[in-house]
Amino acid sequence: MFKGINISEGIGIGPAHWQAQLIEVDDAQHQEQGEAALVLVRSLFSEVEKDIEQLIESKRGTIANDILGVFEAHCLMLKDPMFADRIEAKIKVGITIQQAISETENELMTLFSSLDDPYLRERANDIKDICKRLLTKLSKGSSAKGQARMDTDYILLARELTPSDVLEIDVQHVKGILTVTGGPTAHVAIVARSLGVPAISGIEETFLGAIQEGELLIIDALLGQVHLQPSPELVQEYEHKVDVLAQKHAELERFRQEMAITRNGKRVEVAINIGNYIDALEVKKLGTDGIGLFRTELFYTNREDWPTEEEQYQIYRSVLAEAGENPVIVRTLDIGGDKGLSFLKIKPEQNPFLGLRAIRFCLSRPEIFRTQLRALLRASTFGQLKIMFPMISGIEELRQGKQLLAEVREELVREGIEIAPKIQIGIMVEIPSAAIQADLLAKEVDFFSIGTNDLVQYTLAVDRLNDQVSYLYDYFHPAVLRLIQSVVKAAHREGKWIGMCGEMAGDPLAIPLLIAMGIDELSMSSKRVLNAKRVIKTFDIESFHDWQKVLEAGTPAQVREILASLT
Ligand code: PEP
Ligand code: MG
Repeated sequence: MFKGINISEGIGIGPAHWQAQLIEVDDAQHQEQGEAALVLVRSLFSEVEKDIEQLIESKRGTIANDILGVFEAHCLMLKDPMFADRIEAKIKVGITIQQAISETENELMTLFSSLDDPYLRERANDIKDICKRLLTKLSKGSSAKGQARMDTDYILLARELTPSDVLEIDVQHVKGILTVTGGPTAHVAIVARSLGVPAISGIEETFLGAIQEGELLIIDALLGQVHLQPSPELVQEYEHKVDVLAQKHAELERFRQEMAITRNGKRVEVAINIGNYIDALEVKKLGTDGIGLFRTELFYTNREDWPTEEEQYQIYRSVLAEAGENPVIVRTLDIGGDKGLSFLKIKPEQNPFLGLRAIRFCLSRPEIFRTQLRALLRASTFGQLKIMFPMISGIEELRQGKQLLAEVREELVREGIEIAPKIQIGIMVEIPSAAIQADLLAKEVDFFSIGTNDLVQYTLAVDRLNDQVSYLYDYFHPAVLRLIQSVVKAAHREGKWIGMCGEMAGDPLAIPLLIAMGIDELSMSSKRVLNAKRVIKTFDIESFHDWQKVLEAGTPAQVREILASLT
């Protein structure tokens, strides 16, 4: 058995089948130079763009929109001068087309792969995908060639796969994917998840290379394990697991378009956490009540400079329009702590999580904050925008944030720009001081959203990224639960709405407790939504009336025991 990283959850059993080799271009056939080469390369670009557009249209309605989003991004890359100009510049100095494409691919791959940001690093694979299409077109192939079709089930093995490779796989027969490269944020992972094909990446090259064509494999993309030549008993055990999983999936499907209402009639809103436009496409598909957290910093981290107001406006507008009638809580920039920006040089800090982060950073750089607020207010007429400030530690920070927002609003009004008349303003409650002063803060906001990821680290003094103390990091710690309960009460005493957007909100063991405490909304990663709806719809307050015992418990283990006995 060997290990890798789950990039698309599930279990697959079947014989190994190696992905076909990459396309080879016959150099001798393409010796165009100068203007002729430029004309040819430009036509390659427009033909490939047309191919991708056709692919998108042919798959629309049959394939999840997030997959199509990957290919829409490829079309944008083809239009990006950083890409086309590099190729043309090489051709102008006499390099052949195929060499120019390959060299540009290598340069951009090196550039992207060396970046700190994992999301950007993964974009290297998209460059590879586009270059493969261009070279295939050049070699007069009809389209990027996929692997040979097989009539039986198999596990696809490759050093790496591009999103196009994954899109072309035969979902009927491919039971799993194993690769050396590609992390959870790679487009390959997005495509594999959308197609429901289990996939593991990060397999050591020597292990993968040793697998022979046709050798039996089990891939367990829940535990990140690959079993080579499994015993008949292990195969049987896994076949049973596959059946159980399939049954669970089928059962959850029926919650897709259902509203989350408990047995005693309490409506609990279920929303999703997103980081980009592609994630927003899940809002309607999963029948959710909106976006409970849009982490806007992702948009800032994937670049080499600050995004302009216009760029931000475009993305906020698209997300708001996608969510339609559903509210979208946009959290203003939360950088600092673990979230650095490659282009931002801030003084190194001894304790970044306690340093110049989130609202503190924004208030110290008002020009950056104003740009984001302007973009948000301009986009506000396209949907149901709510604005949320992160890392609020006290009333002054909140007032300063609101003051700046009011100034930006006035400025835009003076410019004659239309803005939604009422935009709710809220804060993340994720610092203990804010939780303790929630009664006062509640008077000055429209809503709260509890960020347990940080609330736990600050309450328990446990760095959320430090493996050595992770055993102490636990949202079931009774001290955290007491804080949560007091914040919910404080919000409701002021008649204010309160949600939760930390990881705890999607935990099936925590959900009944949070409902009992009175939370109005739970916002989570989209893959947890259907199960959360199931938990809410089966929740019965009658069997849960002793829940307050958890507040008296001494340890997280006792809390878990009490919760398990109630549910
Ligand atoms: C949180 O702290 O719970 C939260 C949702 O924000 P982030 O994880 O982005 O800090
Ligand atoms: Mg946080």
